[in-house]
Amino acid sequence: MSRKLRVAVVGAGPAGVYAADILTKTEGLDVTVDLIDRDPTPFGLIRYGVAPDHPRIKEIIKALKRVMSNPDIRFFGNVAFGDDVKLEDLRQFYDAIVFATGARRDRDLDIPGIDLDGSYGAADFVYWYDGHPDVPREWPFQPHAKEVAVLGVGNVGLDVSRILAKTADELLVTEIPENVYEGLKKNATTDVHVFARRGPAQVKFTPMELRELNHSPNIDVIVHPEGFEFDEGSMEALKAAKSQKLVVDVLTKYLAAEPSGAPHRIHIHFCQNPVEILGEDGRVVGLRTEITELDGTGNVRGTGEFKDWPVQAVYRAIGYYSDVLPGLPFDAAAGVVPNDGGHVIDLDGSPLPGVYVTGWIKRGPVGLIGHTKSDAAQTIGMLVEDIDQLPAPEHAEPEAFDRYLDSRGLEYTTWEGWEKLDAHEQALGEAHEVERERVKVVPRDEMVRIARS
Ligand code: NAP
Repeated sequence: MSRKLRVAVVGAGPAGVYAADILTKTEGLDVTVDLIDRDPTPFGLIRYGVAPDHPRIKEIIKALKRVMSNPDIRFFGNVAFGDDVKLEDLRQFYDAIVFATGARRDRDLDIPGIDLDGSYGAADFVYWYDGHPDVPREWPFQPHAKEVAVLGVGNVGLDVSRILAKTADELLVTEIPENVYEGLKKNATTDVHVFARRGPAQVKFTPMELRELNHSPNIDVIVHPEGFEFDEGSMEALKAAKSQKLVVDVLTKYLAAEPSGAPHRIHIHFCQNPVEILGEDGRVVGLRTEITELDGTGNVRGTGEFKDWPVQAVYRAIGYYSDVLPGLPFDAAAGVVPNDGGHVIDLDGSPLPGVYVTGWIKRGPVGLIGHTKSDAAQTIGMLVEDIDQLPAPEHAEPEAFDRYLDSRGLEYTTWEGWEKLDAHEQALGEAHEVERERVKVVPRDEMVRIARS
């Protein structure tokens, strides 16, 4: 090719940044990459998914920043795929388009009572405490909601439980915005009940995240003995994965520990399948679970016995779900864009020329941030193999896309703009009475104003 290859990556979270990195490092390939994101800021889930009290995970941003300093990679924020630009628009400017849009919503849970006031999706709560611009500024904490249920035993369930059980002042040292600090002061939760529908060998927690759960002086972790059982399938799972064994070791320690008398408690219950959220006058007053038993394979069956739990709020943390991308096929059951490991596969089974996926939109919302690297390598490998067959864009010069956005009056943000906002947030943190690494700016128009100033 006599000119540079032009690739758009939609979604500037870790999956998108890793894809851009691998592309620009591919030997013999002369390429420029534009990362396009609906958020005014890069880093997707690291900024708006990782919990504020997990600064260690947020450190990944440092490595992503190094990638973004490559002049062959540009950032266009505040540009929503589907609303501001469509697939046909992008095809005018790029040889290939890689979607790395992740999963932003809560998976549905179809049980009676799920729509009651006080029944929430974990993703919504995470977006709120992480200061996402598109969610309401206030979280509807109720003064009487002292006992709260969290459904699902993955790391999101742990994040939500920990944030609910910590005090607002404990979280003040993090990057939480002012509205979140003020909101958390209204959180009356004393007891968080986390429900696993299977046994301890089937939880999806990771050992480090489970271990740190009781590092707060305000929290006792109480593992309840009912359902703390292991069948043959469980024993095989523990033999097969060292990390699962470590998780069970931590749970066993919690089970044996005497509560210290801390003001807040996180209870973990096993073999309880949520079947109904109980309501009164439209509000949550309880959760009904069916007690389950392990069936020998690590799965469970219902016992026909039910238990009601007096809780005043329910957070479902049963997994994320991807948004449909306009103009692309979607597999609603799996919540992914159909693909063969990289190419998007149309409804008739043929690949959509020049269109690829990577990250959670490709393989579903599981796995840690680092896993998206090997994912990106696979997708970019396929793209590179296709180079000779990619449909040529009408406007291949890099400035054409900026001109197009300007002509549409779209107020996009750039990498330099992000650096301004980054510096602004860090200055807010430094100026705070309690010294903090940053304080996040939340309103979209304010973020865009600072970034474009
Ligand atoms: P996850 O790990 O898949 O956990 C989902 C949980 O929901 C499972 O325990 C699952 O139980 C349960 N569940 C699903 N449907 C249910 C139903 N109908 N009723 C009751 N329970 C149900 O998902 P996640 O917690 O959203 O995490 C997504 C990914 O992000 C994971 O890879 C996670 O490790 C990662 N992450 C990491 C961190 C970190 O701090 N390192 C933080 C957040 C997220 P079954 O197993 O029985 O289906």
